[in-house]
Formats: sequence, C-alpha cells, structure tokens
Amino acid sequence: MKHFTKSFTQQESIPEAGIQAATEVMRGGRLHRYNALGDEKTETELLELEFAESLGIPYCLACSSGGYALHIAMRAAGVKTGDQVLCNAFTLAPVPGAIHNSGAVPVLVDVAEDYCNDLDHLEAQAKASGAKFFMLSHMRGHIADMDRVMEICQRYDIFLIEDCAHTMGASWNGKNSGTFGDIACFSTQTYKHINSGEGGFLTTRHPEIMAKAIIYSGSYMLFERHLAAPPKEAFENIRFETPNYSGRMDNLRAAILRPQLQDLKQQCDRWNARYRVLESVLQKSNAINIPSRPKKEQFVASSIQFSLPSFNREQIQSFQNQCAERGVMLKWFGGAEPTGYTSRYDSWKYLQNMPQLPKTEAILETLMDMRIPLTFELDDCELIAGIIVEVADDVMNTKAK
Ligand SMILES: *Cc1c(COP(=O)(O)O)cnc(C)c1O
Repeated sequence: MKHFTKSFTQQESIPEAGIQAATEVMRGGRLHRYNALGDEKTETELLELEFAESLGIPYCLACSSGGYALHIAMRAAGVKTGDQVLCNAFTLAPVPGAIHNSGAVPVLVDVAEDYCNDLDHLEAQAKASGAKFFMLSHMRGHIADMDRVMEICQRYDIFLIEDCAHTMGASWNGKNSGTFGDIACFSTQTYKHINSGEGGFLTTRHPEIMAKAIIYSGSYMLFERHLAAPPKEAFENIRFETPNYSGRMDNLRAAILRPQLQDLKQQCDRWNARYRVLESVLQKSNAINIPSRPKKEQFVASSIQFSLPSFNREQIQSFQNQCAERGVMLKWFGGAEPTGYTSRYDSWKYLQNMPQLPKTEAILETLMDMRIPLTFELDDCELIAGIIVEVADDVMNTKAK
C-alpha cells in the first residue's frame, strides 16, 4: 500500500540572500524600523516601497501580523462600535476577530459551491442590513467574480476591505488581488505566500487612510520615515486624534521578506504546478468534486479544497482517518470541533445574534482542505492524490456493499 512520509507543515528555507540581510541587520543592532543612521533607508521602509510597487498601489504599511492589519484597516476605514460589517461565513478566525476588535458586528455571507462568497446572498445581506463595510476574504485563495462584487459595493455604497492572506501574487482578470477594494490586507505569517514567521501589510490608495494606519501602527510621529506613505500634510489633521495601537514590522523580518518578494512570481507558478497535478489525479474519483476555476481567476494555490458530496459524516471521518494513516493529513471544515485552522462561523461564539446559515453548513459539511507546502515535489503530489483517490473510492464502495 502507498504511503506518504513528508511533513505537511515543513516550509522551505529562507533564501540565502534573506539570511545574509538578516545577519547584517543583527550585526548593526538597528532592528527597530525607525532606528536608522542618518538618511539610511531601513529594510522595513524598502520592503514597503517594493511591496507597493509590486502591487501597483501608492501606499503600503508593513506591520506585525495580517490580523493586526485587518484590525487597523477597520479603524482607519472609520468603523465604529456597533457598525455592521459584511464578512464571509467561511473564513479563518482572525477575520471575525478583527471585526470584533473594532467593536463592530459581522453580517455573515454564505459560502457558495465554488467556495467563494455567495454573491446573491451578499447582495441580499447588503440590502437587508444596510452595512456600509465589507471585509472580503479571498478564502483559501478563491476569488469571487470581482466585477460583480464591485458592482454590488458601488450600488450599496460599501467600503471594501480585501483580506488577501491567501491571494498575495494572485489576480482577477489581470488586475492584482488587493487593488479592487479601498484597503487590502496581507499576511507574511509562515503558512502564507512569503514567510517572516509573523507579519502583515496594509495597502491603500487613499492618503488619509494610510496616514491613520501609520499612526495606529505606532509611528511615534516618525511618519516621515516611510517611503510608501502620503506627504506629511496628510497627517496634519489626524496625528493627535489617532491612538497608537503599537504593531510595527521590524527590520529583521523585513530583511528576510525582501528577497522572498523578488521570488514571489516564481513561487506562485510552483504552487500552481503542484495544484494542477493534485487536481488532475483527484478528478478521477467519482467521490470527489473539485469546482473548476474561472478563466478570469489567476489564483495562487498554496492549498487545495475538494468536496465529498455523497459522503455522510461517518464516511468522511473514516476517509480522513484512513488518509492520515497513510501519511496524508487533510483538514475537514465539517468536523464537530475546529482543529487547527478549520474554525466555522458557529464556533465564533462571542458573536452576538448568531445567524443560522444552512447553506454554508451544508457546503462545509463535506469540504476537505489540504495545504501544499513547496517542500512537496510534483511526484509527491501525484502520490498524495493517488492515496486520496484510493481511500475515497474505497470508502464509497464500502457503502455500496
Ligand atoms: C492567516 C490569515 C489571516 C491573518 O493572518 P495572521 O498574519 O496570521 O494574523 C487573515 N485572514 C485569513 C483568511 C488568513 O488565512
């Protein structure tokens, strides 16, 4: 019987150029982002500039995590206590967490069969709630029809924040993910597309929003030490009214991120090559359903999702266990309790007035998820998918007997 033995959580090493740059920062001792000699440009300032340029957007702030970026995005957008914020019912826990942290109330939007937000439900929720903000997670890298999303946001006058934790390097119809909304947030946490352990970015084209975000992040009035920021006039009216929610990026992490940003395009291609191998083998099983991806979606597949529509809960449990016994570690969004990152909307018990979302529950009930670390080779993906197909077919045939 085939077995897989590699770890599902092993990342690639930091590129040698990053290790060297980090060593230099440590030798210099100037790890704090504002600790520069004369007019030296720090690693953090340069990283912000390079990320803004890569995205094609004027302003970028690097900060302590993706979840932190989401929180100050809410604040900089002007979200106040009690405001309603549209948000995916299918997303990771930092997203409702960021909304909660700003005192706002999420209005949950159903997931659809393609694992994106159900845009009919988005529209219905926008209309019914009157919410003026939408925090859109491109969850697991699935990008909804952005033409329609933008049309809905315009019609209902909704401020859009994109959560691009899984879409750094991706685009929709040739336009970079993160350049549709008013603000976008990215993560550089280990399991995302570039790895500094922890870290994040907030990007925007609005000068006053970036000015606020910089003050929130803890700039100690050193906001002129930013290369991807608006001119100092933008800070004039807000600098004493905006609290310091300390959450800066540091030069050590910035140093290891800069070379990774240079390699991002190539890494995205490597993820997608692995995805295509997995997808082509998985499609052979009648038990497995993988929604095909729209032509306009230039995704980055750092993970893969599929459904087992004909399986009941016991069968999925058995499928997951048998895969694990053969070294293939799958996550299940339908599990009774969240394990690792698979929390579901109904596990965010701190939210008030929890809605019932039967459609979302039905879809998550049979939804499986697998990370694709780049330490897996194409052969590994072939082997993994082969094991998954064998187990799935086996579980399906056992039922038939
Ligand atoms: C990881 C993640 C975040 C937050 O990132 P952190 O850097 O871990 O705070 C936000 N949204 C989604 C969908 C994520 O997967």
